[in-house]
Amino acid sequence: MRKKIVAGNWKMNKTFQEGVDLAIEIDKLYAESGDKNVKVIVTPPFTHIAEVNKVVNNDLISVAGQNCSTETSGAYTGEISAEMLWSAGADAVILGHSERREYFGETNEMLNTKVKKALEFNLTPIYCIGEVLAERESGKYFDVIKEQLQTVLFDLSVEDFSKVVLAYEPVWAIGTGKTATPAQAQEVHKFIRDLLKEKFGAAADNTSILYGGSCKPDNAKELFANPDIDGGLIGGASLKAADFMGIINAF
Ligand code: PEP
Repeated sequence: MRKKIVAGNWKMNKTFQEGVDLAIEIDKLYAESGDKNVKVIVTPPFTHIAEVNKVVNNDLISVAGQNCSTETSGAYTGEISAEMLWSAGADAVILGHSERREYFGETNEMLNTKVKKALEFNLTPIYCIGEVLAERESGKYFDVIKEQLQTVLFDLSVEDFSKVVLAYEPVWAIGTGKTATPAQAQEVHKFIRDLLKEKFGAAADNTSILYGGSCKPDNAKELFANPDIDGGLIGGASLKAADFMGIINAF
């Protein structure tokens, strides 16, 4: 059975105290909510990880980083290693977010190294893929997604692959208020799973594939109702505890 996951990507938002307060609020709301069949992940800025990890119930909520270095350690000013994230209490890391690809030049080749680094230091890679608007409109999106999967994941062993979480995030839907329709999202999620099954066999049945892109409490239910959508990677709506909880409760 694959896990249902809702992960909040805080991006470069919240001061230290604001982040800790948000984590406390999410923790409280989730503790009070009835059903706890969803794995909840919060992804604060690096500076907040250790403290956020202390204030949440780790049996219910885990903490992730938003990126990690391709390198293990050394003279790489400004970088954060996978091992540092792990030592601060993170158990996962978002890799390949479209903002990292677009603004910081992250390539599939770099992401292949980052995924392996994350796995080496016991972090679950939450690997993001997705097409930009022009690729959607020209019908090239399947090719783009296939390449993002093949170049980054296809040299992993089945054992390592089974530790990876995928996030399909059509770039045209991120932060734009323009959500993919449930049918558009399901079409791509099924394409992803089928491709992963061809390569990794039955292990792909247990891979959680999250949808990301303007997912909100009022559209999460119809997205999550689809057979290959196993949860969400949430940006804007993860910055308010009540909205984030509304999405968690959409399952
Ligand atoms: C994201 O950045 O991963 C994201 C899905 O953002 P938003 O929910 O704000 O579209």
